[in-house]
Amino acid sequence: MASFTWLEIRLGCIKTNLQRVREKTGGRKILVPVKANAYGHGLVRVARLLAEEGVDYLGIARWEEGAEIRENGIKVPLLLLNGFLPGEEENILSYKITPSLTSEEQIRWLERLGKKSNKKIPLHIYVDTGMGRGGIREERIFRVLEEVISSPSLFVEGIYTHFPSADEDEEFTWDQIRRFKGIKRKVEEKGINIPLWHMANSAGILNFPESYMDMVRPGIMIYGYYPSSRVRKSIKIEPSLSWKASVIGVEKTEAGKGISYGLTYFTSRNCKIVILGVGYGDGYPRALSNRGKVMFKGKKYPVVGRVCMDEMMVEMDEGVEVKIGDSVTVLGEEIRVEEMAELLKTIPHEIVSQISRRVRRIYYE
Ligand SMILES: *Cc1c(COP(=O)(O)O)cnc(C)c1O
Repeated sequence: MASFTWLEIRLGCIKTNLQRVREKTGGRKILVPVKANAYGHGLVRVARLLAEEGVDYLGIARWEEGAEIRENGIKVPLLLLNGFLPGEEENILSYKITPSLTSEEQIRWLERLGKKSNKKIPLHIYVDTGMGRGGIREERIFRVLEEVISSPSLFVEGIYTHFPSADEDEEFTWDQIRRFKGIKRKVEEKGINIPLWHMANSAGILNFPESYMDMVRPGIMIYGYYPSSRVRKSIKIEPSLSWKASVIGVEKTEAGKGISYGLTYFTSRNCKIVILGVGYGDGYPRALSNRGKVMFKGKKYPVVGRVCMDEMMVEMDEGVEVKIGDSVTVLGEEIRVEEMAELLKTIPHEIVSQISRRVRRIYYE
């Protein structure tokens, strides 16, 4: 049955990208973030695929994402990459999610629960080496580590940090790598063994092989998009998504006709105004009004007038054969995610994670 709009997702591309990251990172452990509905690609299906492919960890941002993964019978280790609120630790533990320690207060909350449940709670300590988004301050790490290690109810499975600018600021990133590795050396000199040290996101993987350590955390590149135009394309990746919309109307139009809210566009010739069943309610950026492009039968056509909540218009030449029910590509293939992000002064992550749940995901091998 036809729909107004849908996403076609090629799981084979995700597998290929994972394989290429594996080759490049030389068999290090891999954590793939599946936060925000697996960057829009569909949480449960993607989590299942990655678990089947043997990734070591999935990264989530909310315990609810972990609950959905567990409720679908997926047993892969899960790392909560963000902080959590007091009271959430019970759910985190009951869904077998490994929390990150992002503030010192959390030690008490976790200890209380550990004592109550008589369990040793594994966690990863998140150190701020320059991201400036919470975390344990670098100068506090040894104190915190000692406190956590001496607690009978806590177990430090990993220590990690994050790059704010591995695509843009080489010097800053080098400095972060040096400082984080310095922390590791000092910890080891004290005779403390932490199994998993990790820091590399996609930009780190592409630009800084020195940042790989025990585990890498590729997000956007696993889905097939470079994090920005400033990274080295040191790994070839395959975009996994095509976003399609149906033609829901075709109007033969003469010059001078105003199009859509605000009448921001007037036709200047005989043409066809083609109405598509996709809009900002589906996550198509309204900022692409009069700026976006779509692909139909191998040619690009402009989005004209304002993008509406559920529809948008494109202009085609009067001779183009187009009818209701035809499908048009609004993102993916020649409409590159990276180019759309650049045009909107944002990053591919935002473009794909905003494709709303209303858009049906269809999976292909
Ligand atoms: C989301 C996230 C990543 C992945 O970043 P990409 O740019 O998508 O590769 C890695 N590490 C942490 C802590 C994250 O939150």
